[in-house]
Amino acid sequence: MSLTPTPADARRPAGTTRQDWHHRPVHEVLDAHRTSPDGLDVPEAQRRLQQHGPNRLPEPPRPHPLRRFLAQFHNTLIYFLLTAAVAAAIMGHWIDATVIVAVVTVNAIVGFLQEGKAEQALAAIRSLISPQAQVLRDGRRTAVPAHELVPGDVVLLEAGDRVPADLRLIKARNLLIDEALLTGESVAAGKAEHPVAPDAALGDRRCMAYSGSLVTAGQGAGVVVATGGATEIGRISAMLRHIDTLTTPLLQQVNRFGARFTWLSIGAAALLYLYAVLVRDYGWLDALMVVVSLAVGVVPEGLPAVISITLAIGVQRMAARNAVIRRLPAVETLGATSVICSDKTGTLTRNEMMVRRLLVDDHELEIGGAGYAPVGGWTRASGEPVPPGALPATARELVRAGALCNDAMLREAGGQWQVDGDPMEGALLALAIKAEEEPGALRGEAGRLDEIPFDAQHRYMATLHRHPDGGAVLYVKGAPETVMSMCSVQLCDHGETAFDPGAWSARIEGCAAHGERVLGFAMKRLAEAPAALDFDVVHGLTWLGAAGFIDPPREEAVAAVAECRSARIDVKMITGDHAQTAAAIARQLQLAPDPTVRTGAQVDALSDEELRDVVRETTVFARTSPEHKLRIVRALQAQGHVVAMTGDGVNDAPALKQADVGVAMGRKGTEAAKEAAEMVLLDDNFRSIVDAVHEGRVVFDNIRKVIAWTVPTNGGEVLAIIVALLLGLTLPMTPAQILWINLILTVTLGLALAFEPAEPGVMARAPRPRDAALLSPFMVWRCIFVAVLFVIGVLGIFGYAGWRGHSLEQARTMVVNTLVVFEIFYLFNVRYLHGGSLTWQGVLGTPAVLIALVVVVVAQLAFTYAPTMQRWFASAPVPFVDGLVIIAAGVALMLVLEAEKALLRRCRLFDEARG
Ligand code: ADP
Ligand code: MG
Repeated sequence: MSLTPTPADARRPAGTTRQDWHHRPVHEVLDAHRTSPDGLDVPEAQRRLQQHGPNRLPEPPRPHPLRRFLAQFHNTLIYFLLTAAVAAAIMGHWIDATVIVAVVTVNAIVGFLQEGKAEQALAAIRSLISPQAQVLRDGRRTAVPAHELVPGDVVLLEAGDRVPADLRLIKARNLLIDEALLTGESVAAGKAEHPVAPDAALGDRRCMAYSGSLVTAGQGAGVVVATGGATEIGRISAMLRHIDTLTTPLLQQVNRFGARFTWLSIGAAALLYLYAVLVRDYGWLDALMVVVSLAVGVVPEGLPAVISITLAIGVQRMAARNAVIRRLPAVETLGATSVICSDKTGTLTRNEMMVRRLLVDDHELEIGGAGYAPVGGWTRASGEPVPPGALPATARELVRAGALCNDAMLREAGGQWQVDGDPMEGALLALAIKAEEEPGALRGEAGRLDEIPFDAQHRYMATLHRHPDGGAVLYVKGAPETVMSMCSVQLCDHGETAFDPGAWSARIEGCAAHGERVLGFAMKRLAEAPAALDFDVVHGLTWLGAAGFIDPPREEAVAAVAECRSARIDVKMITGDHAQTAAAIARQLQLAPDPTVRTGAQVDALSDEELRDVVRETTVFARTSPEHKLRIVRALQAQGHVVAMTGDGVNDAPALKQADVGVAMGRKGTEAAKEAAEMVLLDDNFRSIVDAVHEGRVVFDNIRKVIAWTVPTNGGEVLAIIVALLLGLTLPMTPAQILWINLILTVTLGLALAFEPAEPGVMARAPRPRDAALLSPFMVWRCIFVAVLFVIGVLGIFGYAGWRGHSLEQARTMVVNTLVVFEIFYLFNVRYLHGGSLTWQGVLGTPAVLIALVVVVVAQLAFTYAPTMQRWFASAPVPFVDGLVIIAAGVALMLVLEAEKALLRRCRLFDEARG
């Protein structure tokens, strides 16, 4: 199906030029854009950016703020409350009506502000991973933010890239592009440079690459012909823009629970109302006000907002630790992660490569130096130094192969040597300079004619060059087994000799066992250059030898692996590298004392069931290709694991999608991997995954704390009134007072829990089971126990006030204060679900807790002593001694709750209480 079968120009406004770039030869397109195959220069690009504006699709308008504010009122409970307010107003109960309206309004304002804040925070974090494009500027390959592209720029494409603008291709090498977004066609389209018919449909314009489509294979380059809203996708963008909403399975669960709970409460309130009016002879309006306020009291209307904020804070904390969340549900899932499957190179290791060893003919040469700085001497294995000028001819040929079969650039900036491109290739350039070869000069004299780019599937790369003596030469580098399988003879110092793969394998295993990453090299002289380099040309090669690279493990990864061990999270290394190399690195990282290694070939020999049985005990998967990752994730998930999986290439996307938490590399990852992932690592570092898991556990703890605090406090307050109502006692609180408690407490104290830092030992617990209920048996017990204590406290203080001979107003004021004091003490108790709260740290609280505390105390003092408030809420001043009694009751509550926590932990009654 093609969305746009009509020629592009048919829809253009009259007066603009024909934009039939697909029909015009490359040079015409370049001329028309006043550019060249080397791209624009920087000042010109800047000028054009001014003229054309940023390469962004127009943002869909956001709903008007007023509309978003009104949406806060769209809720069953609110309608119910507003109805009650109208009833109260009609009957002339102005204070009740006003208080209800005030509660509803404050609630809406808080909800509106929190939602806005959470959304802003997420948008800011998302901009951390905005896409980059590879362009030629001043003839040099540069990465620029995709929104800075301008018409005339030359963009380089690689597998995994999202095409950043509409391009007329000037080069296409096995280029396949998935254009399903535009054409609906799910098979990737093959691309080429030559022009097509003017009336070709969008899907048939082989020489074009359209913004938003995905490069699935090959390489290419194209000149930008349209950016931003002028692109094909810009015209249909309205259909494609979707905004991520602030919702997660947990939040949905809470919302559903809230909705059901609201109806239940309204039903119960109706029964209670009938009971009060018919059995207990309350006035109908008084009874209505009481049950309405009870319904407000019991429904945790602030809960979803507080949970959203908790999630948003979690996302912010993770971003501060270099883990950017792309999909909010991952915040919850992360905390439950039980297996992390990680790449090796760059994630567990530093990806700062250096060639340490060359194996050529029967020589073994060692190379000194550090990092990419091209200084370091050569020695034989015996320790005898070799001046660069006296290197064996075989070594020189390998060094040349390494410098030519290479796309990287080495540059010095402020005394630091850095690589643009693949670190291994950078190391090969440093090696060439150490051998006194000039990579630039080599590349100049042996101009590249064609190439087969590296890909993780084939594990090799080949380049075809003009030979200075005429004809052509082919260089190949890659995984030694792969390269060896293409070789028939071996280069030696005096020509060619027979090739003995067995002996070479043994030498290579020797290097790999030290943790060196080994590459094999080969070449082939051709009398005449073939028209194109394809896979059939690459055979019958001459073996040159191998290079061993060191790539030290990241120091912080060792500590992170240890943390995973204590958190009972399995770490598995999945790598394309050699089994011996991977095992050596795994040992250095202490993934396991004697890591079990399985290769991709061994995994292929297993059925899915067999893989399931061995996947647990396997620590290292070596020589794997991306498809293995998918099978490994599935096998682990079938065992009930929650799996985090890393990836960077376009072929990793399926495994990243399948994993519970797909983790893409922010630096070396492709756009395709990032889009498939739940989380992107800004620093490609394993440590950041573990930090994110840590934060994920904290978020889940905090959500449980919010619930563990909200449910029993709401419940206790309401239960006390119901008990009084059923017993026919004088009500211990007026409806306005119940609303007051709800108004000030949920938005202050409850919210403070969202900011809780980690409890000690978060990473010393086993992961939470994937289907752990939010309200565990422990929490249910907790809610009932605390609610009962609240009832005892409230009725006790009410009785005590009567015994002291206080007025009803004073007694009720004391009850309100008691409830608030209880909620404060219980808050301190709940801050530590897994341990005691009576520590200095526990008593001192956090800034958020202290701010909430101050607000609540000031509000309570005003409630008790300010004349206006007394008039509004029918409160009365409480004598100082009775204030102390209330605080003493709070301390007693705290002690009872701490004793209960300690007892449960001692008796191991509930899993969670153990800590
Ligand atoms: P890893 O899991 O360590 O990142 P890769 O999939 O990147 O492994 O690479 C797998 C193997 O492919 C490497 O061990 C190496 O032998 C070979 N290889 C990697 N990069 C290149 C390259 N740029 N050119 C040639 N061969 C390469
Ligand atoms: Mg790699």
